[in-house]
Amino acid sequence: MTLSKVTYIWIDGAIPTQTLRSKTKILKSPGKHPHPDDVPFWTFDGSSTNQASGHDSDLTLKPVCIVNDPIAGIGHYLALCEVLNPDGTAHPSNKRDRLVQLMENGGKTHEPWIGFEQEYTLFRGQQPLGWPDRGYPAPQGPFYCGVGADEVFGRLLVERHAQACLDAGLMLYGTNAEVMPGQWEFQIGFRDIESESADPITVSDHLWLARWLLYRLGEEYDITARLHPKPVKGDWNGAGKHTNFSTRETRDHKHGMEAINKAIKALEARHQDHIAVYGSDLELRLTGKHETASMNEFIAGVGHRGASIRIPRPVATKGYGYLEDRRPGANANPYEVAAALIETICGIHLPNTEKNA
Ligand code: ADP
Ligand code: MN
Ligand code: MN
Ligand code: MN
Repeated sequence: MTLSKVTYIWIDGAIPTQTLRSKTKILKSPGKHPHPDDVPFWTFDGSSTNQASGHDSDLTLKPVCIVNDPIAGIGHYLALCEVLNPDGTAHPSNKRDRLVQLMENGGKTHEPWIGFEQEYTLFRGQQPLGWPDRGYPAPQGPFYCGVGADEVFGRLLVERHAQACLDAGLMLYGTNAEVMPGQWEFQIGFRDIESESADPITVSDHLWLARWLLYRLGEEYDITARLHPKPVKGDWNGAGKHTNFSTRETRDHKHGMEAINKAIKALEARHQDHIAVYGSDLELRLTGKHETASMNEFIAGVGHRGASIRIPRPVATKGYGYLEDRRPGANANPYEVAAALIETICGIHLPNTEKNA
């Protein structure tokens, strides 16, 4: 009999920023790539993850997205899970459930596509990778998309991670070194490949799995990836999670730009509602400096990297496509960011928002 290692991955209840947990179960090999329904539910101790109290601690893991485990190899799997209460309802920390409901209650009809740019900072111990033990490196300038041992730090891990994402079957779009030394980015989501779906649920699942792979591979290099939006105070770029978003309407070759402008108006009206779910410590990054707009204002513009919303130049030229929301912090929960965009741009609201909040 062949056996499979299935690593169950879930999002905990840490406050203010949820983090990833995982544990591995040995199952009889399914013989082919398993559907989520073929992977059994499992339980965990919610009192150790800030999700339950000690006297009633068992919570349920429901597999929802299964990919190849690129580290354990062929026949082994990573199973991203939703967290359920014992009665089968979604646990309050489970933000994916709400996104699924928004998609089912009208979101789908707009065919939203998403692409996340995940920035992150590599650390060894308390210092960003490549930084001197004391003091600071040379000022920002040469590091963005740089090459050479004195310009970029951690490429071995970055390339291992990119390959692992591809081996797992995640929709990795690309990678680049960022403006602050030790800071990097990967993008995940829409790649203009017809056979795959860049719907917000799949892409958000893939982002959580890609984050898990980054932390996991970092263990092998003694490097920690951090998603804090302002890992070093001062004249250093923060780390964001730019979110690129389009719908059937914004991609329409005739009326796309009208739909994009309408979306921007709707986003302006709900600016603070978005800021509220775009990650903790966001005020440290959205200062109006370092390629951001201030958190207290809403600016939109073509090719404008100091804006809240940027219309990419090629989109403006063609007259249709997508917009980039530059506000989310690197530590934002993609399920919450995607849900806010669908609510605002597609005008979808769940019947009982109180209960689903
Ligand atoms: P930037 O110029 O802001 O650094 P990147 O090259 O890093 O942009 O990333 C571009 C992002 O745009 C990718 O995440 C990709 O998935 C996304 N994207 C491209 N076209 C669309 C589209 N039509 N709908 C949604 N996202 C899109
Ligand atoms: Mn980018
Ligand atoms: Mn970037
Ligand atoms: Mn961007």
